[in-house]
Amino acid sequence: MNSAAPMAKEIVLIGGGHAHVHVLVNLALRPLPGMRVTLIARDLATPYSGMLPGVIAGHYRAEQAHIDLERLSAVTGTRLIHAQANGLDRAGKLVLLAGLPPIAYDLVSIDVGIEPSLSPIEGAAAHAIAVKPIGSFLQKIDILIARACAPDGPRRIVAIGGGAGGVELLLSLRTRLIADAHEAGREAGAFSFTLVTDGEILATHNDRVCAAFRRVFAARGMILRENRRVRAITADTVILESGETIAADAVLVTTDAAAPAWFADTGLDLDAKGFLAVGPTLQSTNDSDVFAAGDCAAMVASPREKAGVYAVRAGPPLADGLHRRARGLRPNEWHPQTRHLALISTGERYAIASRGIFKAEGAWLWTLKDWIDRRWMRMYKDTDAMTRWMAGR
Ligand SMILES: Cc1cc2nc3c(=O)[nH]c(=O)nc-3n(C[C@H](O)[C@H](O)[C@H](O)COP(=O)(O)OP(=O)(O)OC[C@H]3O[C@@H](n4cnc5c(N)ncnc54)[C@H](O)[C@@H]3O)c2cc1C
Repeated sequence: MNSAAPMAKEIVLIGGGHAHVHVLVNLALRPLPGMRVTLIARDLATPYSGMLPGVIAGHYRAEQAHIDLERLSAVTGTRLIHAQANGLDRAGKLVLLAGLPPIAYDLVSIDVGIEPSLSPIEGAAAHAIAVKPIGSFLQKIDILIARACAPDGPRRIVAIGGGAGGVELLLSLRTRLIADAHEAGREAGAFSFTLVTDGEILATHNDRVCAAFRRVFAARGMILRENRRVRAITADTVILESGETIAADAVLVTTDAAAPAWFADTGLDLDAKGFLAVGPTLQSTNDSDVFAAGDCAAMVASPREKAGVYAVRAGPPLADGLHRRARGLRPNEWHPQTRHLALISTGERYAIASRGIFKAEGAWLWTLKDWIDRRWMRMYKDTDAMTRWMAGR
């Protein structure tokens, strides 16, 4: 433990995202005298992205894929404020909250994820289900599944967006709907599943991975409409730019991410899409007392796709950077690897692995993914073990 009094006493974390859960534990394990860590969280249960498709497919219960921030804060001695941050007063060093007084900071870190970008598609806000925020998305999926088991429930499901999220989501939803419909005595063949994407599916993955997923879609009788841009969504139709229409009882949108609107008023440097511009130390490029990580940050020197895996990996360097900065030291640089092993599930307990030009598939890869995901979750959910570490540190 470092006994030197920190120069920065109030460390405020906005959002309980993947990077911040690690920061809570890491800072609790090496406290500095007089330093207080505060977490401002809009949602008290934070979802782990790697397990979401498994929740939708029915392989996990929702609580297995969520971290309880109240328990984690209690064990790590963090002050938890259940509120939504909606601004920064950087001159006064205050985090502004919706409906509550501001919170003072010496150092602030932002890990609040993305917001859905529905506005480019006419009618999407009224008629589609957006995947973010995940909490309300899972509730809407539960409602959709319950309705689909009714005699006159939705049968024609369309997903828009051909990235890994959209592909996994539709495959997982199909697995679940067919299993539940079967159990409810419904005709599973009455369902149709269509994925529409304006480029090719899994555009950031190699050709063999794309071909494998096209084969999976075909084998399940699912319809893939690549290189088609959606113009509008109505109550029962998806309308493409070409004028073609697709009948739809439920539409899920997993397209582009938008930055939270409040970033624009902070005066912090932003990238072209409005995300917080950070350097290799995860500090804002124009305010070294502001850190950001995960989907809401844009690493200007080494841009990476927005994926939970990078948010998870940012946790240790972010914690270290905050700790060093609190002691008046320069944070170390972090250069995330350019490629990562993606294990993309096919809805069943089966996954396809993708990394660079590498591709493999099998049930064993799902087992490996399950092991990796559960191991990560245990670090933040097993609060008894955490209490023992804290006591023995
Ligand atoms: C269906 C689906 C499946 C996915 N599957 C995968 C996958 O298998 N692998 C993968 O790598 N990625 C996957 N992703 C992407 C992944 O979810 C994101 O990249 C990841 O969640 C980003 O983590 P984060 O920490 O940046 O933000 P988040 O996980 O979104 O966490 C942000 C947190 O901040 C809180 N918050 C937001 N705004 C505020 C505010 N104003 N004030 C206070 N708190 C706030 C939220 O409540 C939330 O807890 C998937 C995404 C979806 C939608």
